[in-house]
Amino acid sequence: MSDHSKVHDLVARYPYMFEVEELAVYAGWIDPIQALCEEIHAQLEAGAWTFHFLQIKEKFGACRIYFSLGLRPTEPGTDVARQNLAHLKEHIGHRVEAAELECSSRCIVCGLGATPQRHGAEVAPPLCQQHEWSQGQPNPREIAPIPIPGPAGSLAGGSAAQHKQVPSSRNPGFTSDSEVELTRATMVREGLLIEPERLARSWGESVEALAQACKRKELFLLRVGGRDFYPAVFASLSKDEVHRINLELRGDDDAGKLIFWYRTHGGVRGQNLSQALRRGMVDRVLELALAWSEERGLVAIRSPKS
Ligand SMILES: [Zn+2]
Repeated sequence: MSDHSKVHDLVARYPYMFEVEELAVYAGWIDPIQALCEEIHAQLEAGAWTFHFLQIKEKFGACRIYFSLGLRPTEPGTDVARQNLAHLKEHIGHRVEAAELECSSRCIVCGLGATPQRHGAEVAPPLCQQHEWSQGQPNPREIAPIPIPGPAGSLAGGSAAQHKQVPSSRNPGFTSDSEVELTRATMVREGLLIEPERLARSWGESVEALAQACKRKELFLLRVGGRDFYPAVFASLSKDEVHRINLELRGDDDAGKLIFWYRTHGGVRGQNLSQALRRGMVDRVLELALAWSEERGLVAIRSPKS
């Protein structure tokens, strides 16, 4: 089974764990993460819990996994439930730490045992001898991550329906503008906005190229705490489609555009844009984007080159 199919299979089995759209794993991490998911799923089986990963990433050469675990909104929040939740959090926390350690001692490309590499002040993730990065070769750090497609992509494959889904307290798509109450800082914390370097890595281009695309209105970014962030959803989609859709979103209301990207739309059967795009509904999404600009009286500013 290829690494990509393994990842698809994982999402199909545990769709509720992969609600956050911009997750990516190194190929070498897949096996420990698969084992982790199996254990967590078994832990949740009998309970009244919601669980999903917030972030799975490499930091200072090591694997870092962040998750959200809570009581289902339908469950009474009794003292016993809270106590059980605390125990479960601790248990899963230990298991997550073990998986982090295991991932951090594997070659990120093939999973063979290896140790993080120190280059001056920077620590790079482990690479075995065969996959050592040599000058003039593509950086394995950039080519090894496999995007996790998110539940929508795997549901299209069909096999997810037979598995139990733990309902989550977190709404995967906003249903109206007024429901977007997350502040931008929260969006950064929740992984809905990402740093330019991350988007650049996903698309295999430079941060400067992203900035140029912003000037051409093919992209937009948001400032949070004096720093630039891109919507995380872009990283999981094709650059070309993201560019085409953003070009239809006229004007400079970048916060409004962000909402447009994350909310659900009746015009694409109640899905959000990334879900619709993964189902090949790009023409329909382009129409929605144009309608968004029309509603705001912005279509007249369409530039001749687009
Ligand atoms: Zn290797």
